[in-house]
Amino acid sequence: MKMNCDVKIGLEIHVQLTELKTKLFCSCPSNYRGKTPNSVVCPVCLGLPGALPVVNDRAIDFAVMIALALKSKINREIVFYRKHYFYPDMSKNFQITQFEGGGGAPIAVGGELLFDWEGSSYRVRIRRISLEEDPAKLTYPTGSIITSPYTLVDYNRSGIALAEIVTEPDIRSPRMARVFLAKLRSIIEHLGVADLSLEGSMRVDANVSIKGHPRIEVKNIGSIKEVERALAYEIVRQKEALKKGLHVKMETRHWDSTRGVTVPLRVKEEEQDYRYFPEPDLPPVIITDDRITRLKTLMPELPEERAKRFVREYGVPDTEAIVIVSSKPLADFFEEAVKYYRNPKRIANMLVNDVLRWLNERDIEIEESKMKPQHLAELLELVDEKTISIKIAKRILPKVIMEGISPREIVRREKVTVLSEEDYIAEIVEEVFKQNPKAVSDALREEKAIHFLVGQVMRVTRGRADPNLTIEIIKKRLQSLKGGVR
Ligand SMILES: [Zn+2]
Repeated sequence: MKMNCDVKIGLEIHVQLTELKTKLFCSCPSNYRGKTPNSVVCPVCLGLPGALPVVNDRAIDFAVMIALALKSKINREIVFYRKHYFYPDMSKNFQITQFEGGGGAPIAVGGELLFDWEGSSYRVRIRRISLEEDPAKLTYPTGSIITSPYTLVDYNRSGIALAEIVTEPDIRSPRMARVFLAKLRSIIEHLGVADLSLEGSMRVDANVSIKGHPRIEVKNIGSIKEVERALAYEIVRQKEALKKGLHVKMETRHWDSTRGVTVPLRVKEEEQDYRYFPEPDLPPVIITDDRITRLKTLMPELPEERAKRFVREYGVPDTEAIVIVSSKPLADFFEEAVKYYRNPKRIANMLVNDVLRWLNERDIEIEESKMKPQHLAELLELVDEKTISIKIAKRILPKVIMEGISPREIVRREKVTVLSEEDYIAEIVEEVFKQNPKAVSDALREEKAIHFLVGQVMRVTRGRADPNLTIEIIKKRLQSLKGGVR
């Protein structure tokens, strides 16, 4: 894809720290999904007058670990701020968050994330990492924010710990935003601080501007795939407007994923409109060197180290290892499949070049497929046993991926179609020709000698190859050899 240097994209990523047991400032359980609306709440997360917040210490640990993974500079004294706004998702009329500048200190500033882009390493700078509380969840029962006549509010989500990661505007295309986010997601999942396959656990605000024109913010995009779509739409929309000589004004827009368009939400607030001030109910949190040292020793294996280990331990090529660790579920899938099949290189090869390619072409994530690691191992075993050819293996792969049926089962059920495949027999014939040069030269001279070759094909396929087709293929091959001799 062509790199578009006119486009500048910066992202604000909100990650729910789902592996925490409780919310950020109270002891309500953090697992609110599937619960009756407004049942997982207390005076603190409902924002009742007089209720006092207490910081979840583990949330600080998790945020520091994210900062370490992104090579950010960790502030030793962090301060919480109130960000004021009036909205039904925030009953206190302010959100407890962090603020950079004016005495505010988020968890960390600076940092970087490197990812593989068109064969080389690309760097996106991190501006800051902070902790804040999630607002309540608003539901628009009869459609979207625009069309629904009323809104329902569920405070179960209110007060869930969010890590906010803000990048510099270093991203150059919607596709690049997607690759960046996939890498970030993989890092966070490897850290063990969040399960980002949960609905709404990773939400992105995307800022995009074209060649020095005002920046537009698309708010609250719910998945990595949708970020790419929303940005692609937004860039075309802005370019069209500029072409017509229209003024693109600084504003906040909403991504309507059903219609595939962005719609204006409000004119963008300036930071000062939020009237930030220090949260008087929370003292500053001191982060000691000892704490950072202890957390460094607790850091698990991250995607880059894991890729190196795949190369070292399993002999997987660099390029394939990088692709595999770009998603934690995919990397876990690979390591699981290796337990069932002795040749990790072939597993990696088929995973990247066949499974992933097929999924990517259809915009499907590995977690959405029903294939089990054992299935991939089984498919390769079937090829090794010469029960099926590699071509047929590739042909039945989509069925394994989407339906989760064991390859052996598919072969058993569809035996005839699988085994009468012309290319399968052709592969065996090629093998038989290679191993029996004398029989081949006999057959070239005397037609009757062909029976030996047919017999060999039958032996390899245990009699399952179609005899007429086998004879036809052998004759064709002999004919082409004769042609070559002449
Ligand atoms: Zn609570």
